[in-house]
Amino acid sequence: VKQRKSVKHNNRKLILDYMRADGILSISDISEQVKISKPTIKKVVDYYTEMGLVVSAGKGSSTDEGGKKPALFQFNRNYGYVIAVHIGPDFMYSAIMDLNAEIVHSTFRTIPKLSVRETVELLKESILDFQSLEWSRNKELINVVVALPGIVDSAKGVSVYTPHYPQWGENWPVRDVLLHETGLQVPLYIGNINRYQALAEKVKGLALGVNNFLIVDAMDEGVGAGVIVNGTIRHGSQNLSGEIGHMVLDLQGPKCICGGQGCFEALVSVRNINSILSTGNSDHKESLIYRENEDPEVGIDDLFRAAEAGDTFAVEVMNRIVSWFAIGLNNVIMVNDPDMIIIQGIYTHAGSRFLANLKNKIDQMSFPNLSRNVELVYSRFGRERGVLGAGCFGVWSYFQSKELYKPLIPSIE
Ligand SMILES: [Zn+2]
Repeated sequence: VKQRKSVKHNNRKLILDYMRADGILSISDISEQVKISKPTIKKVVDYYTEMGLVVSAGKGSSTDEGGKKPALFQFNRNYGYVIAVHIGPDFMYSAIMDLNAEIVHSTFRTIPKLSVRETVELLKESILDFQSLEWSRNKELINVVVALPGIVDSAKGVSVYTPHYPQWGENWPVRDVLLHETGLQVPLYIGNINRYQALAEKVKGLALGVNNFLIVDAMDEGVGAGVIVNGTIRHGSQNLSGEIGHMVLDLQGPKCICGGQGCFEALVSVRNINSILSTGNSDHKESLIYRENEDPEVGIDDLFRAAEAGDTFAVEVMNRIVSWFAIGLNNVIMVNDPDMIIIQGIYTHAGSRFLANLKNKIDQMSFPNLSRNVELVYSRFGRERGVLGAGCFGVWSYFQSKELYKPLIPSIE
């Protein structure tokens, strides 16, 4: 009897997974694809139609054996929604995601360095605002996913420590506090942003079907990685996996916000690049970085533009950055042996030369005589990548839940 139940469970999941992936379908279409009898498919489709997760989609054009046009069905992506919130070092991006993990509504705002109280208020406000939207009425809130920078214990729902918000202290129990404050009756997940960003690539980005890869994300402040090994997100025993921004690359390097010195992040951060650019001004007045710039404040984008145009000083600075990245990424490759590294964030604007030079430099570092095939690519995602990943996680969690596949009337099934 136990085995029969688990077969039912798997059938339901198989059918629903197939419907989620594949548009408008008849019972026969599904039956052919998942190799389950039509009466069973019909029962399962009826079950989810009654629940609202599947909706009727009219009649097909072809006729089946009885000469009737078959009824068509479709997964209902608007049955419910996930709220995803990404708190970055200086911004908050929040979004409503449908059950295909597509963004339906979103808000972006820059934020100051928030205290614990202010963070809670802001999170609470954005969650409640989304629930009261016209769009959200009559739809079920499935879960809420909050992505945070720094070290996060997602099993406990705790922000262990983040150098971007030292005022949050250590082991701040975000999940419990938020559940209490909002009165939410649905699951609330807390996780590290870079891990969600890796998931976004796996579900919707460049790592579809890739099981060993990592994303490296650099923002104005902070460099982090999300590491996927054998298809699973790596956390590590202290939730430190992916904290590559704090690998020490140069003991004599600039001070880092983590308290260390010469960390990867301290070298390639916009802050350090800006300081290099502002001190270079007097010696390199002729450089394109400064010459064609009406704005007295130069930024990293001016550097990227000048380097792509072949400007000598810009190329020299970029070469330094390439060296730092090459050391950092080569170390990461030696530890994780990935098929692919996806660069996200600010350096996705660094141009094709940067990527080609970086790949060459990495290839020359360890085992220079071995041909290594680590694909190095720029992500197609912009600043939405955090909420996208968090939303993907929320949707994935929902469709993993056993509750969804339990028999309607257990004694009969
Ligand atoms: Zn550091």
